[in-house]
Amino acid sequence: MLTGKLALVTGSTSGIGLGIARALARQRANLVLNGFGDPAEIEHQRAGLASEFGVEAHYEGADLSKPDEIEAMFARIAARGAAVDILVNNAGIQHVARVERFPTERWDAVIAINLSAAFHATRCALPAMQQRNWGRVVNIASAHGLVASVEKAAYVAAKHGIVGLTKVVALENARTGITCNAICPGWVLTPLVQKQIDARAAQSGQTVQQAKIALVSEKQPSQEFVTPEQLGELAVFLCSPAADQVRGVAWAMDGGWTAQ
Ligand code: NAD
Repeated sequence: MLTGKLALVTGSTSGIGLGIARALARQRANLVLNGFGDPAEIEHQRAGLASEFGVEAHYEGADLSKPDEIEAMFARIAARGAAVDILVNNAGIQHVARVERFPTERWDAVIAINLSAAFHATRCALPAMQQRNWGRVVNIASAHGLVASVEKAAYVAAKHGIVGLTKVVALENARTGITCNAICPGWVLTPLVQKQIDARAAQSGQTVQQAKIALVSEKQPSQEFVTPEQLGELAVFLCSPAADQVRGVAWAMDGGWTAQ
């Protein structure tokens, strides 16, 4: 159980982040939710998690592409007399294009949100974790943190980068109760991936269903999507005492993608 711990999950208004927030709340962790979306829907999610699991849940709308908004979010948490025990760096975006046509502005945005935000949130979270000699940093990388695919230069660079950042944070805190690990999911059917399926269907003339099967089969030997619930349980394990000596790993949950 994670009773009394405070978990900040970035990008938890959707997809994997929401699945991880639910799994942590089920273990009685209090939550700080973050991410974009319809305010009424976010409030519905926040109140629902709080009442379903009997935990405190706050929402912070920080735009993680902006370091000053990340700092302000941590300052507001501290002003409430709280501190982040579990940091899940999950917020992420994708852009698909060959390098010679990759818009510079999209490169900057992917690196800012998928990589630099994890650095800024981690540097803000560590001092309070070090004071209490306990903490968990869980970085949501990707199979693309371990191997590459065409047309995803910024994403693959950011995800390889976050795997490297994970190792450094793990080593710098190796003699403390703070661990830092990365989770490397394969395909998960979230809005981020649905956009790629829709684009694939439009380009190939396939139905959306055919494009979905083609996308998952191409990379993932299991031919099945990973679920946010499964990733949530892996995050729970990494937060448990059994994982005290799991430090600096990039843990694939990818239906066999990176075993090939
Ligand atoms: P998603 O689009 O469902 O959710 C992304 C979340 O990030 C949303 O809550 C969104 O509001 C938030 N977000 C985006 N930009 C933000 C910003 N500037 N500031 C604050 N929040 C922001 O996507 P997902 O598939 O759940 O992806 C979550 C993470 O998992 C990402 O890091 C992604 O790279 C990674 N991932 C996804 C898959 C997959 O197949 N879906 C596979 C491997 C890794």
